[in-house]
Amino acid sequence: MPDAAELERLLRAAGLRVTRPRLAVLDAVHAHPHVDTETLIGAARARMGAVSHQAVYDVLRALTDSGLVRRIQPQGSVARYEARVGDNHHHLVCRSCGAIVDVDCATGTTPCLTPSDDGGFVIDEAEVVYWGRCPSCAAGPSPAPPDRTAAERGTP
Ligand SMILES: [Zn+2]
Ligand SMILES: [Zn+2]
Repeated sequence: MPDAAELERLLRAAGLRVTRPRLAVLDAVHAHPHVDTETLIGAARARMGAVSHQAVYDVLRALTDSGLVRRIQPQGSVARYEARVGDNHHHLVCRSCGAIVDVDCATGTTPCLTPSDDGGFVIDEAEVVYWGRCPSCAAGPSPAPPDRTAAERGTP
C-alpha cells in the first residue's frame, strides 16, 4: 500500500495535479482492488468527508485516462477499478458471487498481445476473463442446473 507521499508522487508522475479527491480515490482503489463505483464513493467519503458522485466520476476518468487506474467490466458486472496497471494481468471471475481475483498473464508479460493474426490492428490490451466458481462457492451446494430445454430442442 503506497503512503500519501507515494500517492502524490504517482499523481505528479502521471502529469496530474495533486488534489484531495484524487488522493482519496487513488488511495481507495489501492486499498480495494476491483472496487465498484458505489463502494469507491463510500471509501472516498470515509477518507475526506463530503464528496459528490460527480467529483468521484471525474477523478476516476482522470485516473484511468492517465493510466494510474485500470477499469474493467466483466460481462454482467458493473465497472470495477484497480490500481494494478501496466502488467496486462487477467481475472478470475466467480459466476456465483461475482468475486474477482487477479491472475498473472498465462504465458509471460505480454505474448498474449500477439494474436495469430492482428488484422492490421494496433493492439494495446488483451483482456482474458476466466469464468467459473470461486473456492467458497465451489465448496457450497451446487447451483441450480441450467435450463437446458432450449438447447436440447435445438434450432428447427
Ligand atoms: Zn463465489
Ligand atoms: Zn485485477
